[in-house]
Amino acid sequence: MAEPIQPATVLSTTDLTPNVRQLVLLPQHKLDFSPGQWVSLKLPVGPHPPLTRAYSMAEPASPAGTLTLVFDRVPQGLGSNYLYQLRVGDIVSLSGPYGKFLLPPRSDRALLSIARYTGLVPIHCMLKALKAADDPTPVFLIAVGPAEDELLYHVELLTLAITCSSFHYFPLVAPTEETAVAQVIDVLPPWLRSHHNAQPLLCGTKPFVQPLRQYLMEAGYERKEIRVEVYG
Ligand SMILES: Cc1cc2nc3c(=O)[nH]c(=O)nc-3n(C[C@H](O)[C@H](O)[C@H](O)COP(=O)(O)OP(=O)(O)OC[C@H]3O[C@@H](n4cnc5c(N)ncnc54)[C@H](O)[C@@H]3O)c2cc1C
Repeated sequence: MAEPIQPATVLSTTDLTPNVRQLVLLPQHKLDFSPGQWVSLKLPVGPHPPLTRAYSMAEPASPAGTLTLVFDRVPQGLGSNYLYQLRVGDIVSLSGPYGKFLLPPRSDRALLSIARYTGLVPIHCMLKALKAADDPTPVFLIAVGPAEDELLYHVELLTLAITCSSFHYFPLVAPTEETAVAQVIDVLPPWLRSHHNAQPLLCGTKPFVQPLRQYLMEAGYERKEIRVEVYG
């Protein structure tokens, strides 16, 4: 059954980096979602409105029922540029939650999470949920930003790596998806040798996720073992 579409009010807009913005929304009816899931926004733009675009929740469910979405400004991107001009008090239509990019059930497997740019958004939500639950699962995060000042959540993740012994953070900077893939493949082999049982989680655009999934399969992972979320 299709999820009902409902209005949500913009409560705040915050720039997290020069080209990444956070919106906090209050939907009319509270959504029950799991970290890693997304909502579908219906935007009044484009040649055949509404334009439908997916955005992952960046923060776990809150008692107040707010939804935190984080997105980058895509050059000429209709959806992201529309979201960029929203102001406090504006209304957006959305439905959801959707998606199967979820944390695996608790096990003794470490998590190997690899994300480029706003691909980090659903993984950030998962990290916050693990921390809130005091979950001791070891997490390795390789996060690639297109520039140093576009490393999303960088200070927060550095702090988490210092304060939480089970969390390991490897920030990388690469201007394109192709160079990002090359950099990740450069750092992965020794890590895969010492943590061959880790559960991979990949998120980002197709040119980033697909070659890395292929690389992990050549390294011995089965396709269905690798959890992926592909943007666009
Ligand atoms: C399940 C799911 C969850 C998503 N969650 C998020 C999220 O949390 N944050 C977020 O920023 N985006 C997210 N996206 C992508 C988002 O839905 C839009 O595709 C993106 O904002 C671009 O839309 P646009 O209309 O501005 O540009 P378009 O004109 O539709 O896209 C132009 C090009 O940009 C590529 N692209 C897609 N997403 C991005 C991106 N984020 N950054 C750069 N290029 C992109 C597309 O492959 C396309 O080739 C998600 C997509 C999916 C399918």
